[in-house]
Amino acid sequence: DIETCATKALAPAITHAGKTVSVLANIGGPDDVALAQACGAEGVGLFRTEFLFQQRDVLPSEDEQFQVYCQIASAFGDKPVTIRSLDVGGDKPLAAYPMPAEDNPFLGQRGVRLCLAHPDLFATQLRAILRAYQQQPNIQLMIPMVATVDEVRQVKALLEQQRQQLELCDSSLPVGIMIEVPAAVLNADALAQEVDFFSIGTNDLTQYVMAADRGNSAVAELVDYFQPAVMSAIARTCAAAHKAGISVSMCGEMAGDVTATETLLSIGLGKFSASAALLPALKEAIRRC
Ligand code: PEP
Ligand code: MG
Repeated sequence: DIETCATKALAPAITHAGKTVSVLANIGGPDDVALAQACGAEGVGLFRTEFLFQQRDVLPSEDEQFQVYCQIASAFGDKPVTIRSLDVGGDKPLAAYPMPAEDNPFLGQRGVRLCLAHPDLFATQLRAILRAYQQQPNIQLMIPMVATVDEVRQVKALLEQQRQQLELCDSSLPVGIMIEVPAAVLNADALAQEVDFFSIGTNDLTQYVMAADRGNSAVAELVDYFQPAVMSAIARTCAAAHKAGISVSMCGEMAGDVTATETLLSIGLGKFSASAALLPALKEAIRRC
């Protein structure tokens, strides 16, 4: 019945071996919070902030972003809320911030590349996140599409510059990166020295490892995270995180796929983030492992 379902959704996910696994939600905005909580989310592993920027003529102000970040983080109390910085590009244009078309948008200026190329746009978001963090210490920042150590250092420098401008003394905001570009996997040891956590984005990682457009049905067979090359990339990422002693999670679609759960646990993944509706079944799958 409904009550048993709710109790099970809220109960922790513990394997037979006694390992407690964190299960968090992917959300797209404040409207997703209630469902995530009802489905037993132990925080937010991926908050896609794109919704704030898309389908509007004017970019959101620092204050508007600050309000939204505080609202979502406070709804989760002391549970972690991972805010991903703006992840748009040629494939997801912004009406409020027109950019030139690209021949290969998936290989172009998207994610952190776009943000670093437009520091005005990026700084506003970083300021909103830094301010929200002063009120909500459960916030952490996640950077998408990272390929190099230099990108991480540039983000951290911009963050530090904005922190000083805001005259904030606290510089402890956790900063993590998505691992979704093969270069990041191959250089995971060095990246792990720069950040507080990794989160594996299997949607883009699969597309880039397999060189197969995730939206093109003609190559759908290749867009498969069970391909050995993708599995190997995931395992290497986990190993690099463990070796460096930083946390590693997964927030791509594979995290919510219960046919992958046992394998992911066996390679040492201890944190999963998926759409709210998938969480109760995911927790059940973990308890069966
Ligand atoms: C991913 O690439 O796996 C991911 C979680 O990010 P998005 O789907 O938003 O690109
Ligand atoms: Mg992605």
